[in-house]
Amino acid sequence: MSTPEIKLTFEEPIQRKNVPKHLADYSPDERRDVAKLLGLPPFRATQVATHYFSHLSNDPQTWSDIPAELRHSIADQLTPKLIELVRSVSCDEGMTRKDLWKLHDGVLVESVLMRYTDRVTVCISSQAGCGMNCPFCATGQAGLTRNLSAGEITEQIVSAARACVNGELPGGPTRLSNIVFMGMGEPLANYNAVMRSVRNITDPHPDGLGISARSVTVSTVGLVNGIEKLTEEGLALTLAVSLHTPDDELRDTLVPINSRWNIKEVLAAADKYEKRTGRRYSIEYALIRDINDQSWRSDLLGRLLKNRNAHVNLIPLNPTPGSKWTASRREDEAEFVRILESYGVPVTVRDTRGREIDGACGQLAAAEKTRTD
Ligand code: SAH
Repeated sequence: MSTPEIKLTFEEPIQRKNVPKHLADYSPDERRDVAKLLGLPPFRATQVATHYFSHLSNDPQTWSDIPAELRHSIADQLTPKLIELVRSVSCDEGMTRKDLWKLHDGVLVESVLMRYTDRVTVCISSQAGCGMNCPFCATGQAGLTRNLSAGEITEQIVSAARACVNGELPGGPTRLSNIVFMGMGEPLANYNAVMRSVRNITDPHPDGLGISARSVTVSTVGLVNGIEKLTEEGLALTLAVSLHTPDDELRDTLVPINSRWNIKEVLAAADKYEKRTGRRYSIEYALIRDINDQSWRSDLLGRLLKNRNAHVNLIPLNPTPGSKWTASRREDEAEFVRILESYGVPVTVRDTRGREIDGACGQLAAAEKTRTD
């Protein structure tokens, strides 16, 4: 069995090439130190954080507590523009919007904003590309380009929060309520930047957006060392594990990192997370026709999960361009759900928001690359 070529430490596997530093890259204390280094009184950092996180303002002209002649240079130094909108595509009558962002070095990433009756969720990218190589995922096909900085991740979230407050989604102004790390990339392979972004989400105003940790979902292929580290953070984040099959033989193919940490090890780590945080975790399961949707697999999954505090999220496969795989038949999906429920395992079938705009899994960035290549 060969170990996939994946760097398994928390160091940055692919250097970020001179990404400008942003307030969101630092802790609140460090922000004040950075202000000092820039020759500013430390309270300027708090003022800028207030404009950025509390007022969601990207217009320094309105920062009236900062002398007019300093506003632009302070904004350039502490909140440089890290992501530039290339294009947005909407569907579901505007309730789903996918944004394609260009980073300072031309790299493309995407985020998806979804308005529901009771919440607004943004799905963000933590890496440009991904090194995990799952064969059904569009992002996996192109490999890892580089890790995003905390600033680049946070900018996706703050832009989404701003779009909500500005009433850019139909239904009028609203608040961003949920953040899911389910866009491009493996969040636990970019651990430090992801955790800094998480703190930017959960820290109270003006240090962060003041959104509860419970409303943040970190989705992972199952990097056990990352899950263990996350367990020590003492944050009630929602953990999602992309399992996709209950047997190691198939999982070695669908999620290649399984050959490093198998199903038993991944679930043991998720259980420890659940014990420490009290948070039920999610099992993500993309249903792929005749690959992982057989009733015996549902039965095995039911037996695996029946005594665990886990919830299964079934995702009808969103076929990637050129893929020979497709979503399960309705009747197979229904049977899969029925069997899981017979074990008392909570299960939902994820709605397929954004499907017609390549709404999931790196497909818009992939399409843009094809257009520009
Ligand atoms: N790397 C992380 C997060 C990114 S993807 C992870 O793997 O969990 C978020 C979810 O979308 C994962 O469960 C992933 O397996 C799933 N996914 C990826 N490609 C998909 C596709 N083509 N159809 C359905 N789900 C997909």
